[in-house]
Amino acid sequence: MDIKQEILSLKDELIGLRRDFHMYPETRFDLPRTSKKVADYLRNLGLEVKEGVGKSGVVGLLRGNENGKTVMLRADMDALPIDEANDVPYKSRVKGKMHACGHDGHTAMLLVAAKVLSEHKDQIKGNVKFVFQPSEEYPPGGAKPMIEDGVMENPHVDGAFGIHLWTPLKTGTIGTRPGALMAAADKFDLKFTGKGGHGAYPHLSVDPIVAASQFVTSVQSIVSREVSPLDSAVITVGKFSSGDVFNVIPENAVLFGTVRTLKEETRSKVRKRIEEIARGIGAAFRVKCEFNYENGYPVLINDESMVELVRKAGKETVGAGNVLEVEPSMGGEDMAYYLQKAKGAFYFVGASNEKKGITAPHHSPYFDIDEDALPIGVEMHVRTVLLFLS
Ligand code: MN
Repeated sequence: MDIKQEILSLKDELIGLRRDFHMYPETRFDLPRTSKKVADYLRNLGLEVKEGVGKSGVVGLLRGNENGKTVMLRADMDALPIDEANDVPYKSRVKGKMHACGHDGHTAMLLVAAKVLSEHKDQIKGNVKFVFQPSEEYPPGGAKPMIEDGVMENPHVDGAFGIHLWTPLKTGTIGTRPGALMAAADKFDLKFTGKGGHGAYPHLSVDPIVAASQFVTSVQSIVSREVSPLDSAVITVGKFSSGDVFNVIPENAVLFGTVRTLKEETRSKVRKRIEEIARGIGAAFRVKCEFNYENGYPVLINDESMVELVRKAGKETVGAGNVLEVEPSMGGEDMAYYLQKAKGAFYFVGASNEKKGITAPHHSPYFDIDEDALPIGVEMHVRTVLLFLS
């Protein structure tokens, strides 16, 4: 089959689907319109469809004409709580919600890939599972409940692939890497309670702001002094709340932060050390310390042989020169959970286009994708399936 031509003939439908999802964004697990549209589309193709997997996920199963392995393709369906700032005909019709990460495109691409593969069922040896997941943007995420609901079994998934449309890369390129592609993304919060009082008489108070400030600077020494310079870690305190007025020492200080790492051993080391420093500073500065740390998505690890397969599909789709080895991203992705259960790979499909003015970063209210990237994503899905099952 001439895959490229066949997909190009479906380009209008593909863009139509993407724009429809874009205009009616839904968030977290609350995706009634999106998931119904996905399920109806898959049923129309004659696939076996399961709804309500992991609360609101949808799974379509295509059984090929011959028995063989099972490969899964995953798309996330959820949008973000952002007001769209773009002035485009397909602008979000829902106030306060926007597809600002490209998941509208992920959903559309996977539906059209299901259509193309269904039309060539007779050439497929094995099964293809099309997994449409809710709530990627909001940890603990939708992947885990889908796995708990058995998405990796019946039939057992032998390989898993997922795409992220990616505006840091230009349309016409594919980017991935073996090993860690995306970071573990954790969060912590900390409350130091001292003793409030007059700003002029600090010796009669216990100042939580001085203690919290010490904490903010001290934890950076974990990154600079305790993590190998050839490894990576990020500790960001994103929220620091304390005090009401200039001449009063407040009672407490509350901090919230995120931790990003690319190795599980670094992750547990950093976690342990942040807590030790928090409690140590609490003792040293006479403030009571309450500390909570929550693991978010784990490190996303790509299998080397599966990355090789994606590269091969990439060469066939966009040419060898456009298949790039990218650096790991410190962003998190719950695709990581599927890749703990089955070997596979996650990869980026370039989606920015300077000439069209499509350059905004992910999660920006100006985010958009170059729709010329959509057929490339579909072709990548189709070719990875054919390579995996052959
Ligand atoms: Mn995303």
